[in-house]
This record gives sequence, C-alpha cells and structure tokens, in this order.
Amino acid sequence: MGIKFFSDKARPVHLGPYPLERLERGAMPALGDLPRDLPLSFARPERPESIVNAMGEFQAMMDALRDGLVNKVRSAVPQDSTERSNHLKSFGYFNDVSMVGIGPVVPEAVLETPRRNPEIDRLAHALKTRQTKTLAAGIDLIMADLKESMEAPPSSTNGQGTALVFLIEHMRDPERGEPGSDWILDAQDHRACLRATETAIVIANYIRLLGWNAKAHTATSTDVDLGRLGVAAGLLSAEGDALVAPWLGTRYGLAVVTTDMDLAHDKPLAPMDKQPWFRTQGPAWWLGKGFAKSGLNQDPYRNRDYVKGAQPFELLKRVPTPTTYIDEARVARVPKRADMFARAQFGDMGKTLQDAAKGGYYVRKAAPSMAQRRALGAFVLLQDGESAVVEKPTNSERNAANLKAASHFLGVDAVGLSRCPEWAWYSHDATGEPIIPSHDQAISMIIDQGYETMEGASGDDWISVAQSMRAYLRFSLLGGVIAQQIRNLGYKAKAHTVMDGEVLQPPLLLLSGLGEVSRIGEVILNPYLGPRLKSGAVTTDMPMDHDQPIDFGLQNFCESCNKCARECPSGAITAGPKLMFNGYEIWKSDSQKCATYRVTTPGGAMCGRCMKTCPWNLEGLFAEAPFRWAAMKFPRLAKPLAELDDKVGNGGLNDVKKWWWDLELEADGAYRPTKEPLNRRDLQVDLDLKYADQTLAVYPAPLAPHPWPYPFPMDREAGILAYESMVSAEEYKARIADGDM
Ligand code: SF4
Repeated sequence: MGIKFFSDKARPVHLGPYPLERLERGAMPALGDLPRDLPLSFARPERPESIVNAMGEFQAMMDALRDGLVNKVRSAVPQDSTERSNHLKSFGYFNDVSMVGIGPVVPEAVLETPRRNPEIDRLAHALKTRQTKTLAAGIDLIMADLKESMEAPPSSTNGQGTALVFLIEHMRDPERGEPGSDWILDAQDHRACLRATETAIVIANYIRLLGWNAKAHTATSTDVDLGRLGVAAGLLSAEGDALVAPWLGTRYGLAVVTTDMDLAHDKPLAPMDKQPWFRTQGPAWWLGKGFAKSGLNQDPYRNRDYVKGAQPFELLKRVPTPTTYIDEARVARVPKRADMFARAQFGDMGKTLQDAAKGGYYVRKAAPSMAQRRALGAFVLLQDGESAVVEKPTNSERNAANLKAASHFLGVDAVGLSRCPEWAWYSHDATGEPIIPSHDQAISMIIDQGYETMEGASGDDWISVAQSMRAYLRFSLLGGVIAQQIRNLGYKAKAHTVMDGEVLQPPLLLLSGLGEVSRIGEVILNPYLGPRLKSGAVTTDMPMDHDQPIDFGLQNFCESCNKCARECPSGAITAGPKLMFNGYEIWKSDSQKCATYRVTTPGGAMCGRCMKTCPWNLEGLFAEAPFRWAAMKFPRLAKPLAELDDKVGNGGLNDVKKWWWDLELEADGAYRPTKEPLNRRDLQVDLDLKYADQTLAVYPAPLAPHPWPYPFPMDREAGILAYESMVSAEEYKARIADGDM
C-alpha cells in the first residue's frame, strides 16, 4: 500500500517507475578499479527454516536455462536501435523490475573464469531419480535444456556486444520478532537474485527467439561482473567501495543479458554528489509527479508488516460464507479434460479449433509468450516432491503468519488461506487417472497482471497472451518456492500451476477471502486488483489458521453494471442473472465462445478484455479511493458509478503505454509484422446489450467429456438447452426443500 497522488498515464513504459531520465550523466569511470561481485549461495544448511533453501532449486533451474538455441531465421523487428532498447526496457518493466539500463559489455567486466551454479549438477541428478508422473511428461525436454546449458560455450561476452542490466530493489528488511518473519530473515539478496533472474532468462530467450545471440547472467551463474556492467549501463555509480543505485543505495540485486543485437546505450551516471538535489530528493520525487515511484510510496512495506500484504485487506468486511451460494454437498467434480483448452486440443470443438490449439499455438504465435513458456514448463518439474523428515512446526497461527509473510516478501500480490475441500479437486487428471484429494489445506495466491501494460492494450491484442503467461510464470516460481519450503519443513505440498494443477481455483479464492464472484463468470474479482489477476494454489497438509470470505458489495455492483458483457468481443459473458451451475451460484459465461475466440482471434493473441474494461481495474491513485469506498459502502450508487466509469473513458486505449511489437509467428519460425487487422478496439459505449438477445451454452457435469485424452464431440444444442434449464439459487434451494433434488 502506498499513496500515489499523480497518474503516470503520460509516461512511456520504457522510462520505468523511477525518474532515471532526470539524473545527470557523466563519463565512464575506470571500471578496472571497481569492486567485484561476490558470489551468492542458496545453500543454508545451518538454518533449515530459511526460505533461501527453498529457492535454491528454482534458481538452479533458471541458471540451467540461461542460454539456448538461437532461432536460425531472424525476425523482422524495427531497425532503429533506440526503438529496440525502449522495447526491451519496457519488457523488463512489464516484468516488474525496478530499473533497467543498457550499456556496452566492457572488457573489465568479463570474468576470466565464468561462475557456474554448482546446484545445477545436483538438480540434474535429482530430477533423473525423481520418478513422478509429471516428470515423466517433461523430463526429456528439461534434461535436453540442462545438457545444452552445461555444454554451451561462453557466448557473446568476449568484451563486445551489449548488456541489458535488470535491477530489483530490496524492500524493508524483515525484523526479528515481526509476525511471520521466521523464514524470511537475511534473504534480501536471494529474493532480488531470484526475481532478477526470472526476467533475465525470459528476455534472453526472447532475443534468441528473434534470431540474435543472448545469454543471461545471474549472481549464481555468470560470465560477467554484474556490478561493473551496471555502472557501464548507467544504473549504478561507484561511490568509494560501493556501487550505489539512485534512491536505493546498495539495497538491490542484479541480473544481466548480454547480446549481439544492436541496441542504443545509456550513458553512465554522474557521481551522486554531482546529482542536483531537486532531481533526486526534491518535491517532484516526494510526490511522484508523473512517475509511479515516489518518496511516499517507494516501499509498500516500509510501515507495514509483511504478513498483512501490500493492500489494506484488514479493512474489508469478513463473512462466514462466500457471498454467492455453494451447495457443497452437490458440487459435481469434473475431469481436467473438461477444460475448454483441453477440449479444443482434443478436437471436441472441430478441426479448425484443434489446429489452432495444437501444440499451444496460441502461446507460440507471439514471441514474448513463447519466451515465457520455456521456464513455465521447467518449473512443472519442481512443483511437487518428497518432504523432508524433520520435526514439523505445529502452531497453526504461526504457520499461517509465516506462509503469508513469506509469500508477500517474495512478491505475491495477495494470499489467502482456507480449507481445501474434496469438491474443489478435479475428478480425473490429464491422463484420465482418478484424482484422490491428498491435501486438505489450501494457500491461494493472486498475481497482478500489471496495470500499465493493460492500460496500453485493448485486452485482445498481441500482448494479451504474454500478460497471462507472465502472471502464470510468477506464480509457478513463487508458489513453487512456498511449496518447497513447506516440504522442507516436513509437510506435503504441491503447487498447482497452469501447466499442471488438480484443483479448481475459483472456489478456493472465495473461501480464502481473496475476492467475490463477478459477472465475468469464472473470474474472481479482488477489491484492489479488480479482475486483473491470475491465481494459483498450493495445497498441503500443514496446519494453518484460515481467512474468512469477504463481502465488499460486488454482487450488487455487478447486478448494476454489465460493461464486461458489453465489451466482450465473443459475446460470451451473460448480461442476465446469476444461476446455479454444478452446485455454484455464478454468472455463468459461455466458455465455449470465450475459448474459441481466444484460440482463433486473428488480430491478436488470446484475450482479457473483460479485465481491461472493468471499472475495478484501477491505477491505484489516491483520487480513485472515493470510487472504491462508495462502491463498497453504498450499494445504490453502483449504477451511477458504473455509468461514470464509462463517461470518464476508463477502459479505453492509451497508446503511450503500447510498447510491444505486433509480430506473428510464420511458417519458417520467424516473427514478422502481422498481416491481420489489429484488435485495437475502443469502448463500445453505444452498444445496448440485451440478455434476451444472447444465446449461451453451458456444459455442466452431465455434459462433461470422459476423462481420457481422445475426442468427445461437443454438443452445442445440448449446451444451449442446459443453459436454459439453469435456475436461480432461490429456485434451486426451493427445489431441495421440496425434495426435487
Ligand atoms: Fe462486474 Fe462491471 Fe466488472 Fe463486469 S465490468 S465484472 S459487471 S463490475
């Protein structure tokens, strides 16, 4: 939580959240005299409770992926080196790094002996011996990656080329005795390394996909000195024995990508004593005049315990049950095979859709999401495993505090704890095997999809799929670390990721108080992030205190607003009432229409337009607080507030924030400017969508496919009839009372 007085909507994304452009620049200092990086180890056997131990395998996995094959065919990207630099910086800021600088790979920064994470060998060995179902599916792919990384010659770091330097700032040091601080003490460097590495390996992979050499370098595996390159790239200045970042001092971590792509360089920083006071500490900095970070909001945890999270969740009204009815005794468990993307791939919806979905083409068709896909697949191999045989921590209150504080510290945007009832599990896994629910506790996590890029997007253009994948990847990393931490402490735990999950997340989000059911349908809306989120869950048998569901007035608001239904390009969102579906009261959308549009839209890659246009998708400004407060406190204001949102143009396009290139994968493997008309749609305020004019289909449990991986044709006529036979929660309860169900 931090106060933001001024919007940064006029600020291009490549400038970043800190006003780096206001700083004085100077000459390149003598880099050979500067202190060298110290290697970082993730092994902390003397403190088995430390979260650093749980990060180790994830860091090693990313180090194993820091190099790779370069696309043989170069993509058609802009020739201008400044445009390229701005684009790659924006990608870094999209990934939430604090600062990005670009400079030369100076000879003084090239290590004589490259440093290699010794954990990579241990991980490779461990993966070979872990015989789980998941591993069987992905082991060949990842072992090939590991082998390739081990055998790869040092590339593109011979004292030439360009370095992109990514900086992650430290937040407040957790204090001994602070609730939930048991696991996260002395872990700042490791947290920053992990998060900087996440960005570096994705962007290195992206550049290689475009056809240029690129290699990531981290605090654990590197061919270069990260700090010296930080100085050369204009992010750090040498002050005595320290390399100092503006506004942060020495509280940061770095990762680097070296490449032979021609990029414009930043100039080195002038020394700190040459920086004018009014540029670094004047009123503009303290008020954040037009940039996201300021002296007032720089660190959301400066005056807040990590256990509470960055947003004031403690102010929300808690209720014993979710605000929408769940008939727990009758919730029908369905196989994973019922997921619409699975159905598309197996041909249930016809050949056209199957071809478009085959091999995840909707992810591969855009280069940023394809670049994210590699690590996402690799983390599947780490999301489950054996538990340590140790004395387990049994205090449920303390466990809950540690789980929440550690998740927030790592960078999860909100966490909720609940039971994990059997009905929240799928009935069969992706192979058709029955799932026997193995854990009864759930840690639900949400990851913000990012306001700034959403502001530049129409929601269904060429960045949409990468917005989703970025959030899925973040959860796979951070949720995976939390699951590993629990296993290190002796309990069972599994992270349920987008690639391999066995629980339905919406009901868990409701039970754990992270949001309410919204008109969008399966999307649970959070009062501070709106619907602009992706979720993940870690299930476990660790005892923990639970959170309660929340009530912030959303049911009334969505009754009075149907902006998402009006703006949905596929017409999949209902403009009608909530109805009972598989035991849940929900505004049931037509998932078939939604999935079909997302997989086949020619003018973009996937879609999240409902999230983009919802009035709860807010920048987080002080001036927006009255809207949120009024929407929560005065149900009768819902309609005028929804109308006001349209009048002020919220949800429209902001071209200043459009940083991505509209490139599409072609048959030869290169990405080139798409020939299709772009999905750059603005608000359709004049459209008067009527429920009576909609034809929607649903596929409840009786129409669900068999659990096995071969076709089960979808019967849309039956789906339409199923929609028409759904009833309200009141009618449903009356039928139960009458003994009709
Ligand atoms: Fe609810 Fe309106 Fe947001 Fe749709 S756009 S989820 S109806 S508030």
